[in-house]
Amino acid sequence: PSPIAFTRTTLPGRIVFGDGALAQLAPELDGGSLRRAMLIVSARQPKLAVPGRSALGHRMALEWNEVRQHVPRDLAERATVAASTADTDVIIAIGGGSTVGLGKAVAVSTGLPLVAVPTTYAGSEMTPIYGLTSGTVKKTARDPAALPKIVVYDPRLLTALPASIVGPSGMNALAHCAEALWATNHDPITDALALDGAGRLQSFLRRAYTTTDLAARGEVLLAACLAGIALGTVGTSVHHALCHLFGGMCDAPHAETHAIVLPYVIRYLEPAIPDTIARVAEVMKCDPTTLADNVWSLARSVGTPTGLRAIGITRDQIDAVAEAAVAENLVSPRPLDLRPIRSLLRDAWNGELPQ
Ligand code: NAD
Repeated sequence: PSPIAFTRTTLPGRIVFGDGALAQLAPELDGGSLRRAMLIVSARQPKLAVPGRSALGHRMALEWNEVRQHVPRDLAERATVAASTADTDVIIAIGGGSTVGLGKAVAVSTGLPLVAVPTTYAGSEMTPIYGLTSGTVKKTARDPAALPKIVVYDPRLLTALPASIVGPSGMNALAHCAEALWATNHDPITDALALDGAGRLQSFLRRAYTTTDLAARGEVLLAACLAGIALGTVGTSVHHALCHLFGGMCDAPHAETHAIVLPYVIRYLEPAIPDTIARVAEVMKCDPTTLADNVWSLARSVGTPTGLRAIGITRDQIDAVAEAAVAENLVSPRPLDLRPIRSLLRDAWNGELPQ
């Protein structure tokens, strides 16, 4: 008998990818008879608001500019009220994962369709996962209503992305690819997407970081799309769970946290998943024993801060997150014991090559 056996649900959704694809937004909306758009674009991104408005034209009913990382619940509630009051029939989110995250929360609570135009490599636009934060607790949930109906990928919008965001955001995409490969319910189709994404990041992330080259930034955008599909299909594991604890408990910046923590998680998991490590190492063109070092070097070469201490996390917070991780019994291919997980996080705090 064949050893291949798996179950997989392919997520729905339409993708429009290409240089200048933002111009397709209006015909896409018209095709779905969508006429009253709520445009969500961060006040920090006036350069995205201008093309967003002009792409929507008379279809824009409301513009919402308040966007915060990790989507505070009260912000999502206010945006939902605004969407209903303005009688909108579609939510358009143009921006990074925080903007798309707010769009998802509004789409879930209103039932309106979401169209995402991502401008970072977060990959959230490809997943039905959304998060809301109350106080210091970030809760994530899956809901088909959170999955965008249409995603417009326009690499040109990413040529304005500062290198300091490109690097960690690209590493965030690599974390999605890696995690999808060791998630409990991974399958061969998802594996293929995740491995292709990881290979593209190895090949193009440095160039996308050091230059504004449209082709390189487009390759990384495609990798982020693949990473998002992979992660959205199979769900998360220990790496994301740890990073979410930092997000909720320490208000840590999302992409930087992922970029810093990933090599240490790889080192921690190595003994438990040697075959997976070997597959990732192959596409990243390194020896399996050096994968963690290679990922650490890639992260450093694209501007990832040196350790969690460099993004404002304290030693006490490290220990608190380690305890929370063990108490919450996070899903992990290698069981989480307090001592090794604390030592992993302390190494990530220092930022030296993973031990
Ligand atoms: P972000 O959206 O906060 O953006 C990072 C920074 O980039 C911000 O300062 C933003 O203003 C800036 N920026 C965005 N686009 C820009 C552009 N074109 N030019 C210049 N600056 C630009 O961060 P992110 O890393 O994209 O997303 C992080 C958030 O997304 C977190 O809340 C995370 O939980 C969520 N996320 C969710 C999923 C999911 O599947 N649900 C996946 C990944 C990330």
